[in-house]
Amino acid sequence: MAEMKSSAGSTPGINGRAYPFVDHRFDVVVVGAGGAGLRATLGCAQAGLKTACITKVFPTRSHTVAAQGGIAASLGNMGRDDWRWHMYDTVKGSDWLGDQDAIEYLVRNAPAAVYELEHFGLPFSRTEDGRIYQRPFGGMTTEFGEGPPAQRTCAAADRTGHAMLHTLYGQSVRYSTEFFIEYFAIDLIMDEEGACRGVVALCLEDGTLHRFAAKQTILATGGYGRAYFSATSAHTCTGDGNAMVLRAGLPLQDMEFVQFHPTGIYGAGCLITEGSRGEGGYLTNSEGERFMERYAPSAKDLASRDVVSRSMTVEIREGRGVGKNKDHIFLHLDHLDPAILHERLPGISESAKIFAGVDVTKEPIPVLPTVHYNMGGIPTNYYGEVLTKKDGNADTVVPGLMAVGEAACVSVHGANRLGSNSLIDLVVFGRAAGQRCAETIDANEEQAPLPAGAGDLAVSRLDRVRYASGGTPTAKLRLDMQKTMQSNCAVFRTGEVLDEGHTLIHKVWQGSDDIATTDRSLIWNTDLVESLEYENLIIQAVVTMDSAQARTESRGAHAREDYPDRDDANWMKHTLVYCDTDNKAIRLEDRPVHTYTMSNEIEYIKPKKRVY
Ligand SMILES: Cc1cc2nc3c(=O)[nH]c(=O)nc-3n(C[C@H](O)[C@H](O)[C@H](O)COP(=O)(O)OP(=O)(O)OC[C@H]3O[C@@H](n4cnc5c(N)ncnc54)[C@H](O)[C@@H]3O)c2cc1C
Repeated sequence: MAEMKSSAGSTPGINGRAYPFVDHRFDVVVVGAGGAGLRATLGCAQAGLKTACITKVFPTRSHTVAAQGGIAASLGNMGRDDWRWHMYDTVKGSDWLGDQDAIEYLVRNAPAAVYELEHFGLPFSRTEDGRIYQRPFGGMTTEFGEGPPAQRTCAAADRTGHAMLHTLYGQSVRYSTEFFIEYFAIDLIMDEEGACRGVVALCLEDGTLHRFAAKQTILATGGYGRAYFSATSAHTCTGDGNAMVLRAGLPLQDMEFVQFHPTGIYGAGCLITEGSRGEGGYLTNSEGERFMERYAPSAKDLASRDVVSRSMTVEIREGRGVGKNKDHIFLHLDHLDPAILHERLPGISESAKIFAGVDVTKEPIPVLPTVHYNMGGIPTNYYGEVLTKKDGNADTVVPGLMAVGEAACVSVHGANRLGSNSLIDLVVFGRAAGQRCAETIDANEEQAPLPAGAGDLAVSRLDRVRYASGGTPTAKLRLDMQKTMQSNCAVFRTGEVLDEGHTLIHKVWQGSDDIATTDRSLIWNTDLVESLEYENLIIQAVVTMDSAQARTESRGAHAREDYPDRDDANWMKHTLVYCDTDNKAIRLEDRPVHTYTMSNEIEYIKPKKRVY
């Protein structure tokens, strides 16, 4: 691949310190190398576009690697299936907050996207007759919710994400993409007209600063689970792209919708599968009581995820949590036959040993409802183009900027994502973004020079954080943020709890000016990177809290005790949230839900009560 670097340019210098840039020019720059970023990168490279992929971790270490269960597509390999049924389930799962045109795009393109992965070499598990194996998953049904469960979730054993990421990385390398690995993207380059012109990134290894000019910048930076104390997601899931979008003055959408899984390991947050309760495991409080019998008399510990998570939270808040701080719950498997545990749950037995130091045949596992997925993110249409509100039109495309994967809010998951619908979202919309770039970018067209001062925002932020000499360590601010989000913006919300959360999280935000970075170097400075990531997390925490405080209804993952019902008359709309980082102020607006489909082959699915 030809060397793209031009001679180093430089900024005038900040505080007397020069930060020379290494300049690059590409047709497309993708930030992120998880499933979404790699699929988008691959599509652009295949189309002959000069493509760069920037990633802060090695591609195959992105969080996608941890996905276990599988990827949804109505292949019908193990029983009858139809994309219309998948559409119905997804709309219902979203609690009617999903955009139905985008949902139709997702489910109709899902089978082709899965076959494509198969042809790329993804080692799917197989049926007897050699087809892709598919398993049942929560909320996936047949006959528009009236029939038996659908077997729709395609799997490569319990390592689907791992298989997918490695397959996609291999393919991208084949198409001579230029990878910038262990480069940390700091901020977008925006011009006066509000178009995105590229991105600035720091090479973690040698401290050089890189300015990427691009005709399209695609953010595929994943979720921000780490704004919470307990998350199943990797420590790198800090939503950096979301924060860049906020700092560029653009809105994020539906940030109040955060999905919790009932059983993450206390502290570590690693997932303990629902299958453990399926095999007979149960939860207890500090009094040794099987409290789920009170909340869900028939389903008990196997009630739906949100019900179990909410019940656990009530127990902890009413003082019946276990442990020194009475802040978690026990999951018992110790009454089960060790042979069964060994045979059916070997993976979680190992996780419990490593991350909780617990022998599951003898002791309970300490667990806590744990953040698992962010439905909210950067608003886009189903081509992956980022949207903002302009002159009252909330579907205005931001030139030069796209977003895909968990960072994006297309919105196909609405208020609640169904299991196995994220992996399919990554490849369907990653592919769509690549196709859109192929259609709209002329590889031969000269790029206009970058605007004056391009990259200044990123450099001044880098310099400020690098030399921050306040009195509060980043780790302290981060813990305060995570604890506040965990207790005041969790599975179970009330006006009072959210009002308190608003006060507390804004206090942490205000206190962030006192941040202290101790290491001033630019060579593999993890202290600096963690501070930059913290700055990204805190603004997402604040917009999540404030969006949740404003929404006075219960819908999907946003369950308010004081407003227990869904309120379609007033709230069937997306939240748009803006953040003024200079003045530390939040502004809320809204955007209509798309109540129309993409084609006339299916009608708009009208809202009704969501019962399973
Ligand atoms: C434990 C677990 C199990 C799951 N199981 C399933 C499942 O079975 N089925 C399913 O459908 N979904 C599952 N999910 C959800 C799904 O895996 C994720 O939503 C999805 O993998 C996110 O992919 P992504 O490509 O958007 O981002 P990620 O895979 O998180 O990748 C983000 C990328 O962005 C890069 N990046 C971020 N910030 C920067 C920066 N500042 N500079 C440079 N690069 C940056 C990172 O290096 C990384 O490459 C699971 C999630 C978890 C946590």
